[in-house]
Amino acid sequence: MSDCLFCKIVSGDIPAQVVYNGPNTTAFRDINPQAPVHILIIPNHHIEHIRDWGAYDNNILAEMFQTANTVAEMEGIADSGYRLMFNYGADGGMEVYHLHLHLLGGRMLGPMVVRQ
Ligand code: AMP
Ligand code: ZN
Repeated sequence: MSDCLFCKIVSGDIPAQVVYNGPNTTAFRDINPQAPVHILIIPNHHIEHIRDWGAYDNNILAEMFQTANTVAEMEGIADSGYRLMFNYGADGGMEVYHLHLHLLGGRMLGPMVVRQ
């Protein structure tokens, strides 16, 4: 998608702090981190949101979770723990409509993550 922010991060047209770049997934630091480690894991091809994922043949969700676990190891939070989260729609507070998995950790997150 030509006007999608995260597609432009995958293509390199918009800079980001990329921590993992695989054949099907990319992980980069959130520009407005809500925890010491806040990384977004996305599919390299455009999927709009979590309600859409089943429309695609490959098991992209499994690969995204695999990437998240790899990145958690790389960031040193695999043992201390982390949270994986999808937002969807208005009530979910979704802002960017390119599927992304939030990886949050590096501190005790508490029962809920609240935007500040
Ligand atoms: P969501 O609310 O689930 O749609 O999350 C979108 C996330 O993308 C937010 O946490 C933003 O801080 C983050 N974000 C927006 N623009 C950028 C960017 N250029 N680079 C990295 N993260 C971004
Ligand atoms: Zn996109």
